[in-house]
Amino acid sequence: MEEKTKKEMAEAVIAAGQRMLESNLTVETWGNISVRTEEGIICITPSGMSYQEITPGDLVFLDPEGKVCEGSRIPSIETQMHVKIYQNRPDVYAILHTHPVASTVFGVLRKPIPVITDEIAQAIGGEISVADYALPGTVLLAENTVKALGEKNACLLANHGAVCVGKDLNACFKATIVLETSAEIYQKALAVSGCEPVELKEDDVKAMYDFAQNHYGQRERR
Ligand SMILES: [Zn+2]
Repeated sequence: MEEKTKKEMAEAVIAAGQRMLESNLTVETWGNISVRTEEGIICITPSGMSYQEITPGDLVFLDPEGKVCEGSRIPSIETQMHVKIYQNRPDVYAILHTHPVASTVFGVLRKPIPVITDEIAQAIGGEISVADYALPGTVLLAENTVKALGEKNACLLANHGAVCVGKDLNACFKATIVLETSAEIYQKALAVSGCEPVELKEDDVKAMYDFAQNHYGQRERR
């Protein structure tokens, strides 16, 4: 792999680690981050190191099967989860696993968050499912996560945290923030007695997701 590509991947992962801490999306050394190349080479955070102290030399590069091809550190405990997501989602180039508070409330309740806001439809593409419980770092947790994600950009892990995926780390942060904000809104909406939050219709969700992925933002005007 080109040194330039390696450097860019390492810098993106390190910046995301700092952003994750500053945005209160995790504490201490929890959570993990990766990006991958077109060829499937993965750059992932090392296990149990402070996000403020990680330098490019601490990052670990893996082949598409998850075998270490470069780096002296032990890769994240959730390496299997990242590898299996990439194997199942050719559209995904970055993964962000965080422990945000409001989202984790629903992971603890093991209650999915339905599409109750336009933002969920646009950034995540459907209901946020909860992956069945499995111990951290296990292949079973990796498999359960792939199943809960499906074709969407976010899922919750039972009694644990959130996993968001996307075309780059910015898209992962967007999905994570939409998930966390929507979890707060859902919690408040559920607390209003005598009323039930209303879910958006599937056709509207599909239309919004398609628009957000393919047409939204600045582009050449016709
Ligand atoms: Zn975790």
